[in-house]
Amino acid sequence: MKRIAVMGTGYVGLVSGTCFAEIGNRVICCDIDEQKITNLKKGIIPIYEPGLEDLVKQNAAKGNLSFTTDIAAAIQESDIVYIAVGTPMAETGEANLSYVDAVAKTIGENLNSYKVVVNKSTVPVGTGKRVYNIIHEISGGNQEFDVVSNPEFLREGSAIEDTMNMERAVIGASSEKAASIIEELHTPFNTIILKSDLESAEMIKYASNAFLATKISFINDIANICEEIGADVTKVAEGMGLDSRIGKKFLNAGIGYGGSCFPKDTSALLHIASSVGYDFKLIRAVMETNDIQKSKVVKKIIDVFGDIEDKTFAILGLAFKPNTDDMRDAPSLEIIPELLKHGAKIKAFDAIAIEEAKKHFGDTIDYYNDVYDALSGADACIIVTDSAEVKELDLTKVKECLENPIVIDGRNIFDLNEAKKHSLIYHSIGRPIVK
Ligand code: NAD
Repeated sequence: MKRIAVMGTGYVGLVSGTCFAEIGNRVICCDIDEQKITNLKKGIIPIYEPGLEDLVKQNAAKGNLSFTTDIAAAIQESDIVYIAVGTPMAETGEANLSYVDAVAKTIGENLNSYKVVVNKSTVPVGTGKRVYNIIHEISGGNQEFDVVSNPEFLREGSAIEDTMNMERAVIGASSEKAASIIEELHTPFNTIILKSDLESAEMIKYASNAFLATKISFINDIANICEEIGADVTKVAEGMGLDSRIGKKFLNAGIGYGGSCFPKDTSALLHIASSVGYDFKLIRAVMETNDIQKSKVVKKIIDVFGDIEDKTFAILGLAFKPNTDDMRDAPSLEIIPELLKHGAKIKAFDAIAIEEAKKHFGDTIDYYNDVYDALSGADACIIVTDSAEVKELDLTKVKECLENPIVIDGRNIFDLNEAKKHSLIYHSIGRPIVK
């Protein structure tokens, strides 16, 4: 059993802390957000993540997991301190390290014994050394400690599953002692451990996210060409994916990537490259393609309707992906304001994210927990997120609900023949239009 403090109880900190408790450690999750900690103490979970609530409650009841705003005490009572605070995009496009710096300072002020400080936040190469220097300076340099980079690869919507069955753990450290403590911590996960230096571990995270974003933009570019030449991108992707060197994952054409990681991490990597005088043209193009792709749905709507003033659209999906309430960089945040600007009315469906979405859209749109209620009387169905409820839509019922049988699908959910069979006018991404 290890004594762990986790700094930052957000998507990453809460999930990792809970999973470390689940494998038998004593974990204290810390946050500066008092409301969040008060709620967690009462068993109210601040985010939606499948399986998280049960796991938090079970481990809290066992005494393995606790929550506090007394960050100083939590650090002093722990041997491993994880940093899992946000590293949002600064106005310049770089990663904003102010939260990481603040935590490093607090650790320095409370360094009462040897500790391994582990950075789980996604941070530019060199941040491990920066954290080391802050702690060293603030603590006065008399107490031994080490800094490790252990980047996080979980996906929102399957975060518990991804952590309990992690594909790999990357452990970047300058000391063998610290690396073996973090390796031992990961033993119960029975995963592949890759040990490296600090800088390489930090780079692995950015390179991985940038590569996945590249796959998405690549297939979206192919989709855009397919639309012009009359090919079907889903068939193209299927054929490509059968090649084991390529693989079929992340080859779904759509309306581009969003969420809290890919946009900021590609941008941060571009800055990391330019900070050493390297013009990373490929990632710049990936980002440009994504920006263009995000406007595709609105463009298709306007192509179909011309004037959309007073038209009503059912928007299916508000969060950036299924099974989460995370609205950070969600495509709906661009699509809905653009449609409202043109005078359209919005009936929005999301099974999980409505409360979060209200913080962004307020009463400018109508919200529905039932997908058919959202579709009822709308001029068209606009698919933004490929949630289970949307994938399982009964197309006969969809047609009955809609004012016009028009579906604009940003996620290529339905088979073209199915759409034809139901006499829908069906527009998707990189595939022929069904009329
Ligand atoms: P988040 O915004 O959900 O959570 C961050 C938490 O840190 C917040 O609760 C905030 O109140 C808290 N915090 C801020 N300053 C603090 C301080 N000084 N002391 C204690 N707590 C403090 O962020 P997140 O989505 O969990 O992301 C955290 C990091 O993990 C980021 O670097 C992100 O890029 C990376 N990451 C995120 C994901 C993901 O899917 N969300 C996946 C992999 C990596």
